[in-house]
Amino acid sequence: MKTKFKELLETSFKFNGHKCPAIPLGIRTGLTALKKLGVEDTSNKELYCIAETGPVHAMHCFVDGVQVSTACTFGEGNFEKTNRGKLAFTLIDVKDKKSVRIVVKPKLQKKLLDSEFMKLRSQGVKSEDIDFQIVNPLIQMVITLPDNELMTVGKIKETDFKPPKGTFNLVICEECGEGVFENAIRYKNGKFICKSCFDSF
Ligand SMILES: [Zn+2]
Ligand SMILES: [Zn+2]
Repeated sequence: MKTKFKELLETSFKFNGHKCPAIPLGIRTGLTALKKLGVEDTSNKELYCIAETGPVHAMHCFVDGVQVSTACTFGEGNFEKTNRGKLAFTLIDVKDKKSVRIVVKPKLQKKLLDSEFMKLRSQGVKSEDIDFQIVNPLIQMVITLPDNELMTVGKIKETDFKPPKGTFNLVICEECGEGVFENAIRYKNGKFICKSCFDSF
């Protein structure tokens, strides 16, 4: 295993909290997307990732591998989930106006789902209670499988995608008194209020 991949794997396992094959799956697809876009260093690029994963399902940890490998994260505000139940994402190079979409092969998804590990997980056994010897072969399989058995890589597409604009302006909700950033503020009955108060007002 290459050092960089190993580092990403360790970081992702730690970040996620457990060891499972969905994580290296996210890392491999994430790294492939970067390579396809010609990104060598994520720190001097403006990237945005739209994952079709979720809301919640097996192998959801995939998104953690994608986040760690692409450096597009929820916290950074350049990662979103569209909840379409797929292990797929589009990585966008905002400044160079190009994107690539990657989907995990359904055959591999099925193979993983049919494994002893996933069966135990579906019965509610926590992954930390499952013997590492059961999950490790799956992790190794995902690490070593050839690209074309692991994912479908789309063609590079041109895009005019503009990431959502951030704000630094804080408003105090006139109902609950909590701080709320202005792009989430609502106006009702003459008051500027937060969404939660809006819903119950
Ligand atoms: Zn997992
Ligand atoms: Zn409020």
